[in-house]
This record gives sequence, structure tokens and C-alpha cells, in this order.
Amino acid sequence: MNQNPAPREFTTAAGIRAWVTAQRAGGSRIGFVPTMGFLHEGHLRLVDAARAVSDVVVMSIFVNPLQFGPTEDLARYPRDLSRDRSLAAGRGVDALFLPDVSVMYPPGSDTRVVPGPAADVWEGAARPGHFSGVLTVVAKLFHLVSPDVAVFGQKDAQQVALIRRMVRDLDWPVALVVAPTAREPDGLALSSRNTYLSPADRRDAVGLSAALRAAHDAWREGETDGRRLEAVARRALEVYPGVRPEYISAVEPDALAPAEIVGAGYLMLVAARVGSTRLIDNVVFGEGIP
Ligand code: AMP
Repeated sequence: MNQNPAPREFTTAAGIRAWVTAQRAGGSRIGFVPTMGFLHEGHLRLVDAARAVSDVVVMSIFVNPLQFGPTEDLARYPRDLSRDRSLAAGRGVDALFLPDVSVMYPPGSDTRVVPGPAADVWEGAARPGHFSGVLTVVAKLFHLVSPDVAVFGQKDAQQVALIRRMVRDLDWPVALVVAPTAREPDGLALSSRNTYLSPADRRDAVGLSAALRAAHDAWREGETDGRRLEAVARRALEVYPGVRPEYISAVEPDALAPAEIVGAGYLMLVAARVGSTRLIDNVVFGEGIP
């Protein structure tokens, strides 16, 4: 049985602002977990991480149209608010912010956050405008919720790197916490988009984490050459014929530039299509895949 009270729900800017202001006036530290909903254990671990360093936890659920390209899956992005409500309640979320598109982007709102060049590579190259959309919504949400701490998932490594930069470059008074990637027992990173995978796709999808694990194993055994580590990952992916890799790259952790020599804290990024679904994953060298 769920022992936690249902989270308070807000759909307007004024509503969430007033509630957060009252919580802060009462001495509470505000933790924030932005999501696009269709919650899974990965999202809920972010709630745990927020809870560990704050007194109240706000979660937003908003499928942000600005971060989807014209041919992407905005219309079919999975949604299930009643399930999300009960999962959020079960994990002790105190407040849900559930704005409509008209609340976040009222008619006439056309200001956008423009990220630096680290937004033009990898996911940004495959999805033009994506990170401007992400940073714009995160900036708005930060203003509406004014959290002390915001929690993001390592699963979206480039997103984390760009949000970290925005917070630093714009002197945002918010602490960032990055939670490790939550995975299925076979290694597949949890993602709302995994629901698109057919049973055959699902079997192939494990190839991404298997490739990252192979590269990480090679690194642990002493291989530090970036190109050779990429080759190890590519070879491991060949075992999964249904996986069509888009990029596999060993990168440094700040600008995500390709790394000649790979040290601890560097990343290997992978993006691939499995059937009609585009998946991304990454491993942090030195941390590995559990
Ligand atoms: P999304 O709903 O996909 O926009 O994700 C919302 C937040 O959950 C982002 O900070 C993601 O990085 C994070 N997240 C998504 N999947 C995972 C996962 N498997 N493990 C940890 N965090 C995740």
C-alpha cells in the first residue's frame, strides 16, 4: 500500500510559484526533478536523489514541443498521467507541476536559450534545435520552481553537460545533482521510448549497453586510445544485426570533444536505431555499467 499522501498538483505558473514560496518561507529546501512523464524507475531514482538533499520534492511532467524536431515523435510520445500520479505518490513526490503547452509557451512567447557549440555535436547534430528547446524549457522551469537543487539523469549525458554550462554561464543559484543511469537487468538503459520496441527490437536493444560494457572492459584492461575503444564497441555491436549505429564516440566530459586518450571520468556515447526507435546510452569510464 502506498503510505505517502498524493502530491499537490499545479497547472499554472502562479500556483506552483505560490506553493514553492510558502515552502521556502517555512524553511524547506526545494528539490526539483523535471521530466516528460511516462515515468519509470530511472525517473523515480532522481526523486530519491532529490529527496536525499532537500525537504520537499517538486516533479514537473511536460512533454516539451520545443525539443522535438518536425519529423520526431512528439505526437506519439507515450503519456499516462494517472499511472505517473501514482508512481510519483509512491515515491513521495510532494508537488507535481503539470503545465499545458499554453502555460509554458503562451501565444507570442518566442524567446529561446541559445546554447554554445557543445550543442551542435552528437545529439545536437542529429536533432537540430533540440538543445535550444531543452535549455529553454529548463530555464523556464527553473524560474517557475526556483529550486535549490535540480536532479538530472546521466542517461542524457549531453543534456547534463549543457545544463551544467548554462547554470555556470548564467550564474544560476541552483545546485545540480546527476544520478546514474538506471538499467534493466540485462543492461538496457530505462527510457520512456523503450515502449516503442517490438520484442525483436528489445532483444537487439541490449546491444548498446553491451557495446559500452565491452569498451569499458577494454579500458579497465589498459586500453586508453579513444579510436581503439570505439572500435571495440563497434565490434561488440556487430553481434546485434538489428542495431544501426549513428555515432559511437569516446569524448572528454566538458565540451564532449572526441578524446585521443581516455581517462577516468571521460565518456563513451552511443546513439543507434533499433527498428524505428532511436536510442542513446553512455558509460562513464571508471564507473562502468552495473
Ligand atoms: P525524460 O522524461 O526522458 O525527459 O527524462 C527526465 C529525466 O530523467 C532526465 O534528467 C533524464 O536524464 C532522466 N532519465 C531518463 N532515463 C533515465 C535512466 N534510465 N536513468 C536515470 N535517469 C534517467
